[in-house]
Amino acid sequence: MISITDRRQCCGCSACADACPHRAITMAEDAMGFKYPSVDASLCVDCGICEDVCMFHPRESVPEPSCEAIRFPELMDRSQSGGLSFALMRKAIRGGYVVYGAAMDEDFTVRHRRVESEDGLDSLRLSKYVQSDMNGIPGKVLEDLESGRKVLFTGTPCQCAGVASLASRHRNNLLLADIICHGVPSPAVWKSFLKYQESKAGKRLTGALFRDPSLGWHQHKETLIFGDVKLVDNEYTDLFYRHLMLRPSCTACPYASLNRPSDITMADCWGVEQALPGFADDNLGCSMLITHTASGKEFCQEFSDKCQRSPIELPKDKQPNLFAPSKPHKSAKSFENVYIREGYAAAIRRFGKDSYGYRLNQFIKKVKRHL
Ligand SMILES: Cc1cc2nc3c(=O)[nH]c(=O)nc-3n(C[C@H](O)[C@H](O)[C@H](O)COP(=O)(O)OP(=O)(O)OC[C@H]3O[C@@H](n4cnc5c(N)ncnc54)[C@H](O)[C@@H]3O)c2cc1C
Repeated sequence: MISITDRRQCCGCSACADACPHRAITMAEDAMGFKYPSVDASLCVDCGICEDVCMFHPRESVPEPSCEAIRFPELMDRSQSGGLSFALMRKAIRGGYVVYGAAMDEDFTVRHRRVESEDGLDSLRLSKYVQSDMNGIPGKVLEDLESGRKVLFTGTPCQCAGVASLASRHRNNLLLADIICHGVPSPAVWKSFLKYQESKAGKRLTGALFRDPSLGWHQHKETLIFGDVKLVDNEYTDLFYRHLMLRPSCTACPYASLNRPSDITMADCWGVEQALPGFADDNLGCSMLITHTASGKEFCQEFSDKCQRSPIELPKDKQPNLFAPSKPHKSAKSFENVYIREGYAAAIRRFGKDSYGYRLNQFIKKVKRHL
């Protein structure tokens, strides 16, 4: 029977719940909105299938991947990096695949979604910097594969690992494209942040973007839309990048390495301006495409969308999460305690970018730099 005693050992991919033949496992939310398996002991027969399917541990080593800078100029206005994800998805749909990816619902909840037509792909575009809900998704992927469909699944490497494990018998028809992942933030904090901003603005939120591509590729701020009023700030992004609200397992992630479960890895091609002068100097975006397997390489040989592409060296210094997991902030536990006990407003007052403690720390760092 699966039992999570250390939150760092479960990534919430839901594969164990969907693998259970007795439907004994449901995914239950903790106070941060992260989901963990919860076993109904009266239904469990201790068969061990849930433990076998769990893939949140290092894998055997894999061959050296190849790496390219790639951009799709016609897709970049609605993509976070260089439009690689949409190009892969469109190619897959046109080739008869079912596609899975992360979408944001009308109430701003981020969930994985199954898409069968080009029209549906729009909802899977752009990065959503919050953990996506995978409830029931590995099982749906398996159903598609069992009915003879080909599937492209996109998501974090741990989500890809869960799907690959549950669908291991059908790996030939399953193409996995993961992202380089800095870690996934708390769904509960995301929702509280939105409510807090709504009450500050005194207006209903009508849209939210984690990084609005129209503000430039190198910009890392969230855009909130209240009807005809736009608010651009970095309060939430700052909590994300300081690792104050990441899923505990992200700081022990076995996939923050080149040893990945996927065929393809997508990322921002940071440093492309220095590595390939003139290739992507316009701040509009550029993707990094890493192919790990023969099927990944074959699928990415050609795209119907116009693209610029060039081989590039793996950027060792620009992509820390390709080599190691993000380190937890020393105050992450205190942030969580304050958030749970006193709410988002109190947590942001104590730990946010405008808090006294944070500004004092920044000031001390600045003084030290000048000594
Ligand atoms: C939480 C998170 C952390 C990231 N960390 C890094 C990083 O450290 N370095 C880096 O180079 N890139 C990182 N990325 C990836 C990067 O932001 C782009 O998503 C990626 O380069 C694809 O961009 P694109 O232009 O090809 O397509 P886009 O259309 O912009 O990307 C959409 C793709 O991302 C997937 N996706 C979006 N949100 C989520 C989510 N919450 N969970 C799972 N999958 C999601 C979709 O399924 C789709 O495949 C991160 C993305 C996320 C969501």
